[in-house]
Amino acid sequence: MNIFEHGTGERKRLALDPALRFTHAVIEGQFVPRAGDLTARGKRQERLHERAALTTSRVFGSRVFVRGVVEISNYCRENCTYCGMRRENRQLSRYRADLDQLAELLLQNRPARITDINIQAGEDPVAVREIALPLIRLLRRETNLGISVCLGTLRYDEYAELKAAGASIYIIKFEMANPRLYERMAAPGTLPERLDHIRHLAATGWNVSSGFIAGLPGETSRALLENFRLAAELPLAGCSVSPFIPGEETPLSGESCGDIELTLNCMAALRLIRPDWVIPAVSALNLAEPDSGYRRGLRAGANLATINLTPADIRGDYLLYKRDRFIMTEERILSAIAAEGLAPSTQSLADHYATRLEKFCESTAA
Ligand code: SF4
Repeated sequence: MNIFEHGTGERKRLALDPALRFTHAVIEGQFVPRAGDLTARGKRQERLHERAALTTSRVFGSRVFVRGVVEISNYCRENCTYCGMRRENRQLSRYRADLDQLAELLLQNRPARITDINIQAGEDPVAVREIALPLIRLLRRETNLGISVCLGTLRYDEYAELKAAGASIYIIKFEMANPRLYERMAAPGTLPERLDHIRHLAATGWNVSSGFIAGLPGETSRALLENFRLAAELPLAGCSVSPFIPGEETPLSGESCGDIELTLNCMAALRLIRPDWVIPAVSALNLAEPDSGYRRGLRAGANLATINLTPADIRGDYLLYKRDRFIMTEERILSAIAAEGLAPSTQSLADHYATRLEKFCESTAA
C-alpha cells in the first residue's frame, strides 16, 4: 500500500512500528511535488522556497544542526559510474586515515560548535573494522557527541557492531529511485538490496538518513519525481539531495553539472513533503554555484550543516566529486549560518532524534 493512502486510524500503529517511526507527517500528506515545482523559476520558485523556509522555521526555529565529518578511507569496492572513488579508478591514490591523528583531532581540536560527528568512507570493510569502530568507541567513552556513520552497504552484523559501539545515525543514500537508471549508473549493489538495507537499519533502531542525486545524465523528469515517492515511503529520519557533479576520472567527467535551481527546488520539495526531516545543505551546492549555493540551500529548507574535519593531507583524495572540492571549513559554515539569520543548534542531532521519538510516542499513546 502506498503510505499516502493510510487513514488516520493507521497512524498510531505506524508510529509505534520502529521501521516506520517517522511516517506521521507523510500520512498527513500535504504536499506531493509535480514536475512544474521542480523546474519552477521566478515567482513560483520564490514562493516554493519561502514556503519551505517557513516550514523549517515552524518546526526547527532558527536552529541549524552542525556536525563535523571525517572521511576515513577512500577505498571502495563499488564502481558507481558517477564517482571518482569507484574501484576502477586506478589513478587515485588510496588512503586510510590514521586513527591516532583522528582521535587527537576530534578529542582535542574539534570546533566548539560541533554537536555530532559523521564518520564517512567509501565501501571499505577494513576501514570499518580498523578505524570506524575504535573511533566510535573512543568518542562514546570520551565525549557526548552524537555519532553518525556513512559507510555503505555492509553485513547486518557489521551494522549491529557499529550500533553497539555507540553510533545511532546511519546515512545510506538510495542514490536514484529509477531501477533502470540505477543499473545504468552502476550504483551500489542493486536497488532492491539497497532498499532492504535501509529498511533493515530502521527496523533495528538506527535513525536512517537517505538521499538522491538530481540532474544525472539521462534522467527524465519522471525518474526525478520517482525519488520523492520512494523517499516518502522509506522509514527515514532525514533525506538529502545533491546536484550531479561530473566526477574527475569517471566515465561521466565530460557531462554537465546538475542544475543548482533544480537541486534547490528538490530540497524545498523534500521539506514540504516532510516538515520533520533533517535535510542537509550539501557541500556540492557550492560546487554547482560557488559561494552562494550553500546559503541558498539554507534558504530552501536545509537545517543541517557539515564542517569538513578530514586532515588536509588526505582530503584531496576523497574524490566524491572533484579534486578542487569546496571545503566547508568552520568559518565558512558559521558565517553562512549567521548570514541567513540562523544559529547553530546546541542540541545534537542524535539527541534531537531520540527526544523527538519519545515525544511522538507519548503524543500518539495519549
Ligand atoms: S558513490 Fe560511494 S559506493 Fe559508489 S563508488 Fe563512490 S564511494 Fe563507492
